[in-house]
Amino acid sequence: ADFSRLGETVEELEQAGADRIHWDVMDGVFVPNLTIGPDVIHSCRPRVEIPFEAHLMVIDADELVPRYVEAGCDLILVHQEACVHLHRTLQNIRDLGVSPGVVLNPATPASTIEHVMDLVDQVLVMTVNPGFGGQAYIETMEHKIRQVAEMIATSGRDIDLEVDGGLAVPTVAAPAEAGANVVVAGSAVFKDPDGFHHAISAIRDAALAARA
Ligand code: ZN
Repeated sequence: ADFSRLGETVEELEQAGADRIHWDVMDGVFVPNLTIGPDVIHSCRPRVEIPFEAHLMVIDADELVPRYVEAGCDLILVHQEACVHLHRTLQNIRDLGVSPGVVLNPATPASTIEHVMDLVDQVLVMTVNPGFGGQAYIETMEHKIRQVAEMIATSGRDIDLEVDGGLAVPTVAAPAEAGANVVVAGSAVFKDPDGFHHAISAIRDAALAARA
């Protein structure tokens, strides 16, 4: 997005049919880039009704989670790789009254979250390495998406399976077919010359067709 006009942009995204706003929060330590703090998210919160989710690419999630809850995020995603006490961190997010989610980097096996499946409302399988927008989709993640889909089925819980990174009309069918039901799109939406509504509709249609 154009960071100089985020307020208008979230309004335009809601009007264009986006189901949620996904905030990529980078701390300059866990990932080399530095992005959005809670005050920015808080200032955008009154502009739209759709849920906000914070994808925390940070080294100290426990310290920062309450700030992002206060900023108005409905779902907080933390990285398996960044949380020494992942089980406790996810419980703490639930105790703050919002939904916990866990994120897996491309190199992290699905089995590492086996023992927190009872605590999460969403699993995010990264389809790029986190840190920058505009990277190419990693298709070897599809096997892991299938593994996570099986773990969700085994859990018997209503857990969303999200994918994030390099997703656009040409790439979304395979992860959707593998089991993903939530798709994060950045570049594919913001760089579509035909606008946000066109991009969101086309990606959703391609994903739903693959899941049918
Ligand atoms: Zn993200």
